[in-house]
Amino acid sequence: MIPTLDPESLAAFEVALEDGRLALRPEPRLPADARCYLERHLERLNHFKTVGFFRGARSVSFFDPPLPSGPGKRGLIDRLERVFLKARKPAAATLAVTYACQADCVHCSCQPNIRRWPPLSTEQWKGIIRETVDLGTTNVIFTGGEPLLRPDIFELTACVDKERATCLMFTNGERLTPDACTRLRDAGLYALFISLDSPDEKIHDERRRRPGLYQAIMRNIENAKRAGLMVGFSIYLTGEKFRDGELAGFMDLGKKLGINEIVQFDAIPTGRLAGQKDILLTPEEREAIRKEALRYYRDPAYPSLTAQALVNSPDSMGCFGAYNQFYMTAYGDMCPCDFTPIAFGNAVEEGVRAVWERMTHHPLWCKRHKDCRMQNQKFRSCTVDLIPPGAQLPYPIAAIEAAAQGAVVTDLARNSPVGAKQARS
Ligand code: SF4
Ligand code: SF4
Repeated sequence: MIPTLDPESLAAFEVALEDGRLALRPEPRLPADARCYLERHLERLNHFKTVGFFRGARSVSFFDPPLPSGPGKRGLIDRLERVFLKARKPAAATLAVTYACQADCVHCSCQPNIRRWPPLSTEQWKGIIRETVDLGTTNVIFTGGEPLLRPDIFELTACVDKERATCLMFTNGERLTPDACTRLRDAGLYALFISLDSPDEKIHDERRRRPGLYQAIMRNIENAKRAGLMVGFSIYLTGEKFRDGELAGFMDLGKKLGINEIVQFDAIPTGRLAGQKDILLTPEEREAIRKEALRYYRDPAYPSLTAQALVNSPDSMGCFGAYNQFYMTAYGDMCPCDFTPIAFGNAVEEGVRAVWERMTHHPLWCKRHKDCRMQNQKFRSCTVDLIPPGAQLPYPIAAIEAAAQGAVVTDLARNSPVGAKQARS
């Protein structure tokens, strides 16, 4: 039976943190089903590793708002609405605020997205952030390019309503000066992930094609920690990287440096790696990573590990794309995730809500998908495999639909000065 989730009962419940444990306070007026669900969920969180504390609230992952907090409670309400009312809200919105970058990584996923016109302005991003949070987002994630190359990044960070959402940043780490870290903290940044391509200095700098970057990161981690920011590593694995012992190397480095969380992405043939299907993990490799990740997660001596093989597996949460997250390019085009180079419309032209609705109602994205769509060959063959080599990305969904029907797609794939305008019939 669907419980009544009226605004009053949703406003009435509170979460408390007592002796390190989360619990519902006071006795909520929620319908029994919803209350049981929340109690079970909080109990699960009590068994999760703590990555750190933000303003007195406990964080189990930078991807989840801490509890208790305004964004944390809002995240729980969104969860109830998702489970009981089948509401589709983008809990996480990844915004590529710029594509400028000092590095030139061999695997960069955003390079084919770069256009000849500038990214959205400060005022445009502020409007997008407000719309996004109004739509239900509880975690606004800045990525790039390198977000710290935008002089207004502190203003954009401050613009996220911290009573309703957290603000997280992915950075290459080079510009985390003491001043930048203090300004990010003062603007209310929740945490940051620094991208690392290898635990080995030489290999990291070679892959990033940026000599000296590794050493800069090692210095700058201390700046971030001194400013009181929580710091994570963002890493990716191929089967070869895993066999070379990179996961173990990253975990040891994270342990040595007192890193809060490590997020591990699987290598996906997208961006500069588009077409390189041989980098996709085999089921055996994914299983090996999954086992190793679980071992590290359970070991209290190591930082928390959020591994894609665990989180996006069929027995866990499946694919997040267009289910509870979206990605937006520096020009406002909206895609299901950072690694899905398919645009459903432009938020500046149509508004965030309209494009989100289109995305979540598309036949291929309207239902939950049990695993990573971009690693599923059947899914790829009717979507990204239809994108012509060398096409400007992200590619409009209408052009993919036309290609699937054998139509000429050239006209449909053209781009407007604002973004990938949808040539929908
Ligand atoms: S640091 Fe990020 S944005 Fe810059 S080149 Fe590397 S992957 Fe691309
Ligand atoms: S396709 Fe889904 S699981 Fe794969 S990277 Fe994107 S959101 Fe994550």
